[in-house]
Amino acid sequence: MVVSEGDAGSWQALLGDLPDGALVVNEGGTVVLANEALAQLTEYPLADLIGSPLERLVPSRLAAAHERLRAAFDTSTRTRRFGSHTHLVLVTREGVEREVDIALSRVSIDGAPATLALVRDLSDVRATALESDSELRYRLAFEISVAPIVFTNERDQIVAANDAFCELLGRSREELLGQDSSLFTYPLDLGITEASLERVRRREVDAERYVKRYVHRDGRILVVEVARRAAYDADGRLMFNVISERDVTEERSLTAQLAHQALHDPLTGLANRALLEDRLVRARAKVSRQGGFGAILMVDLDDFKEVNDFHGHLVGDQVLIAVARRLEEVARTADTLCRFGGDEFVYLVEGVHQADQVRHIAGRLLGALERPLAVMGLAIEQHASIGIALWDVESSEDVAVLEQADLALYEAKRLGRNRYAVYSPSLHQLNVGRGRELHALREALADGSLAMHYQPIVAATSTTVVGFEALMRWRHAERGWVAPAEFLGLAESSDLIGDLGAFALHEATRDAVAWSDEPTGPYVTVNLSARQLFGPDLLEHVRSALVASGLAPARLILEIPERVAREDASRTTLVIDELRALGVGCALDGFGDGLASLAQLLNLDLRFVKIDRSLVRPTEVNLVGADLVDFIVTLGRRTGIGVVAQGIESTDDLERLRAAGCDLSQGFLFSEAVPAGAVKPLLDGPLSELASKTKPSSISDMQASATAES
Ligand code: C2E
Ligand code: CA
Repeated sequence: MVVSEGDAGSWQALLGDLPDGALVVNEGGTVVLANEALAQLTEYPLADLIGSPLERLVPSRLAAAHERLRAAFDTSTRTRRFGSHTHLVLVTREGVEREVDIALSRVSIDGAPATLALVRDLSDVRATALESDSELRYRLAFEISVAPIVFTNERDQIVAANDAFCELLGRSREELLGQDSSLFTYPLDLGITEASLERVRRREVDAERYVKRYVHRDGRILVVEVARRAAYDADGRLMFNVISERDVTEERSLTAQLAHQALHDPLTGLANRALLEDRLVRARAKVSRQGGFGAILMVDLDDFKEVNDFHGHLVGDQVLIAVARRLEEVARTADTLCRFGGDEFVYLVEGVHQADQVRHIAGRLLGALERPLAVMGLAIEQHASIGIALWDVESSEDVAVLEQADLALYEAKRLGRNRYAVYSPSLHQLNVGRGRELHALREALADGSLAMHYQPIVAATSTTVVGFEALMRWRHAERGWVAPAEFLGLAESSDLIGDLGAFALHEATRDAVAWSDEPTGPYVTVNLSARQLFGPDLLEHVRSALVASGLAPARLILEIPERVAREDASRTTLVIDELRALGVGCALDGFGDGLASLAQLLNLDLRFVKIDRSLVRPTEVNLVGADLVDFIVTLGRRTGIGVVAQGIESTDDLERLRAAGCDLSQGFLFSEAVPAGAVKPLLDGPLSELASKTKPSSISDMQASATAES
C-alpha cells in the first residue's frame, strides 16, 4: 500500500530540511535517499550512505532479525510512530552504538515502493539530559510535593515515588520500587486497590477516589484518601497510573481535636451537623437583611440499608463517600452540603429569589445520582429522595425548617422515592396522620386485632413439619389483614415495638403448647427486632411467656436479624448466652452476604441460620447466591448449625437447596403463614400434598382462609 507519492528529486529536497535523520530504503534494503542529519548521526559521508545496504547501520548481531522485520513491515504495515519500539540501536561508522527511535512510513518514489525512516537520536538526548520545560516542571512538582505521589506500571508496581510517599509509609524508595501496594496495605483492605485497578484495566473508569488503610513501617495504621488516574497509549493499553494520596488518619481519629474534625463528617469530609446549624443561622440572618429566600433540601438515600445489608459496611461506607462526591460536583459554591447522619444529607441553599431555582437544584442533585456508582468493583444504583423547605424573612425558627424538610422528605418517599417534594402546610396534616396510625396500632394491640400467624418449617429430606415461624398480622377494620411491613417500621420508631414483641412471645408460646404439650413437639420461632434484642426487657418477657404458657424452653427459638448480629456481635453474643441459659434457642435470620463476618457469626451458639430469600433465588444482581449457599451450608456443618432456606416458592427452588445440603426449608411452596387454628392440619396432613400446593397469591387469600377458620 502506497502512502505518499513523489519523485526522487522532490523527496531529497524535503529530507534535506529535516532536523531528524531521514532515509528512504527500497524493497531490496538499499538506501536510496538520506539527509545530512543522518550522515552526521552515522558518521558516514552522505554520498557513502546512498546506495549502501541498510543493514550496515544495524549492529551485526541484530542484522538478520532486522532483515526479517523489514520484510514484515514492507508487506503488512503502513506506518509506525515514534515511541512504538524501544531499545532500537544504530551503529556508526566508528562502531559506536547509539540508541535511537525510528518512525516509518510507506512511500512511493518514481513509482517504486519504498520505506521512509525518520531517525531520532536518543543517546544524545539522554547524555545531555535534555528535558523539555514542561517535563522539568512536572518532575520538580512531583519531587517537592508534600502530597504523597507514586507512579505505577500496568501491573500497579511502583516505578517512581516521591519523598512524601516514602515518608508516609516510613520506607525507603529502594524498598518500594517494583512493589505493589499489597506490601503496605492493611490486610482487610487488600481488595480495594485490586478492584479499582481491575476497573481501570477494563476501562470502566480512568480516575478514582477511595479511602483505604495502610500499615506504616512502625506498625501504625494509617487512613489515606487515594486519588488515582490511569494513562493509556494510542491503542488503549494501560501505560501507567498516577496516584496521589492524603493522610487522613489524624482527621479521622476520634481523639484528634482538629477544628476540621469538629465541623466535618469524618467519612465523607462534608460539613457536619454543627457546621450546618451555624451556616443556617447565618443564612437566615442574611435573608432578613437582604431579602430573597433560602431553602433546606433534606436528601435521604433510597433503600441504603439494602446496600449495607447486601454488600457489607465497607461497601456501604464507600457508597456514602461516592454519593458525597457526586452531590459536591453539582453543588453551588455559595451553598452548604452537609452529612446530617447515616444516609441523610442536607443541602442548604442561600440567596435565591425564585422557588424554581430551588427545584432546579433539587433536580440536579437527583440527576447526579442517576448513573450507577462505581464502588469496589460494583456498579451500585443509589438514588435519593429530597424534601424541600423554603423560608423567607417571615418564617419561624431554624428547627421548624428542618422539621418541614423532613416532612416533605417523608412525602417524597411515600410518593415512590427518587424524587423531591416541597413542604406545604398540608404535609403537616400527614404527619398528624402518622400519629393517628400509631394510635390505631396501639388500640389494635389492646382490643385483640393483632394476631400471630404461623408458617411451617419443613425438614428438607423427610418432608416433616418440624416447627413454625410466628409472623404478626393486623386485622384492620377497613384494610383487612395488614402485613407487618406496613406497621412494624412505625412501631419501631416508638416504644410500641416493645409491647408488640411481648405480645408475639406470649401468643406464640401459648399457641405452640396448644399444638402439642410434648417437650419434643414442633418448635416455634419468634422474630426479634433490634430494639427488642438489646432492650432491657427481653429476658423478662421471654421468661414470663415460658412460665405463663408452660412451653418447654427448647421449643422456643428467637430469630435475630443477621444485620443486627453483625453490627454488634459482642452484645449479640451476650444476649444469646443469656437466652441459652434459659434453655431457649436462637437463629440468625436473613443471612445474606455479610461474608466478612460469616465465620464470626457462626461462632455464636445457634440452632440454625435462615438464609436470605435473595440467595434462595439468585438473580442477575446476585449471581453468587448459589456459591454462598454452598459455603454457608459447609460452614454450618462444620459448626453443627442447621441451615434453613426460606422463601421456597417452587419445586425448583426446593431441589436446588436440597442439593446444596440445606437441612430445612420454608416458603409458599409448602404454605403461607396460617392462623393458629389452621396449624393442626399442617402437622397431621401428608406433606406431599403441601408440596404440590401452589403459592397463595395474596394477603387477601389469606384473609379468606382465616375467615373460613374462625
Ligand atoms: P422475615 O423474618 O424474613 O419473615 C419471612 C417473611 O417472608 C414473611 O413475611 C413471610 O410471609 C414471607 N414469606 C414466607 N415464605 C415466602 C415465600 O415463599 N416467598 C415470599 N416472597 N415470601 C415468603 P411477613 O409475614 O410479611 O413478615 C415480614 C417481616 O416482618 C418478617 O420478615 C419479620 O422480619 C417481620 N416480622 C413479622 N412478624 C414479626 C414479629 O412478631 N416481630 C418482629 N420483630 N418482626 C416481625
Ligand atoms: Ca424471620
